[in-house]
Amino acid sequence: MKIHEYQARQLFRQYAIPVPDDVLCYTAGEVEKAARDFNRMVVVKAQVLVGGRGKAGGVKLAKTVDEAVIAANKILGMDIKGFKVEKVLVADAVEINKEFYVGLTIDRNTKSVLFMASTEGGVEIEEVAKENPAAILKIPIDTDLGMTDFQARKIAFKLFSDINLVKQAVEIFKKLYKLFIENDASLVEINPLVITDKNRVMAIDGKMTFDDNALFRQIDIEALNEPDEDEKKEIAAKDKGLTYIRLDGNIGCMVNGAGLAMATMDVIKYFGGNPANFLDIGGSSSPQKVVDAMNLLMSDKHVKVIMINIFGGITRCDDVARGLVTALDQMKVTIPIVIRLSGTNAEEGLRIISDYNLPTVNSLSEAAQEAIRLCNLVN
Ligand code: GDP
Ligand code: MN
Repeated sequence: MKIHEYQARQLFRQYAIPVPDDVLCYTAGEVEKAARDFNRMVVVKAQVLVGGRGKAGGVKLAKTVDEAVIAANKILGMDIKGFKVEKVLVADAVEINKEFYVGLTIDRNTKSVLFMASTEGGVEIEEVAKENPAAILKIPIDTDLGMTDFQARKIAFKLFSDINLVKQAVEIFKKLYKLFIENDASLVEINPLVITDKNRVMAIDGKMTFDDNALFRQIDIEALNEPDEDEKKEIAAKDKGLTYIRLDGNIGCMVNGAGLAMATMDVIKYFGGNPANFLDIGGSSSPQKVVDAMNLLMSDKHVKVIMINIFGGITRCDDVARGLVTALDQMKVTIPIVIRLSGTNAEEGLRIISDYNLPTVNSLSEAAQEAIRLCNLVN
């Protein structure tokens, strides 16, 4: 789970990591008021869950209230890498002498927390990693010991020569590590960490990702979640016992079991089609689950054909067929459905749906080809 910059800055404050004041705004009117209250240079920043906002024009300095309003009007509603800007942060702008990068992530190779830092701050770190990997310092942190003073100092001395700056940085690094561990983060980044004209070390941007599997014990972090439309559907599906992930294609898939769902997507791709989703209705599927799954697929405008692939083991094909029939009675399904039922109670399942005039096929590859054919007819 990712959080917005404005939320990351709140967490920085909780951990006493220095960060300039800011106000979250949804309208140009709110930005005007915030800029007036600051009464000095501010920076207006798009709040979207994606990096590189500066380059995309989503971060603008404003010396006057008027400039702040102009920036807000430009940024609000802007599309940044497919994310629509619905809110901006108006932050007290600082004079920057130099920008650095600091980050913590989980390194599966060394089974430790990896502490990373670079003097190449400001730009996206992925680019630095590609073009100049030596510019990124890395220290694995043993989580039994935590980040030691020695490790924090080692990095700080590599970034700063002034002892006053080193001392500030060491404090920030240790607090950042504490934040990372205590909140079950999988990534925290300060980019850039800056030296201001007043020789203060401050965070002016924050990026954080948290481990979804730990959210059950991170109630405060979970409360920060602002899922987008696709994620909302995925969460709603999970509550109904379905595992759903939206993809880019147009063949809506309904499958029992994660492995078969993966295989189904592979076969669709193999024959030149594109799955609209991954959808695992699970084992021992009750008819209700099939109804829920049909609702989910029908709510996706991109879905042109529904392909149902059931290999009955614990899942009984007649249950799936009953669910499907219920769904078809309840809702108006205007798009073609291709069904492959095989395994436990397949004959009974096929008998149940036989009255519904649905094309049934005998194998997965036949199903995929038929789904693709029907899809091409629609397009
Ligand atoms: P990102 O592009 O999404 O990573 O957004 P950032 O918040 O990191 O901002 C991008 C760049 O804008 C930074 O690297 C800075 O160069 C600049 N910037 C952001 N805030 C300030 C500020 O308060 N003062 C100054 N002078 N520049 C800023
Ligand atoms: Mn940044």
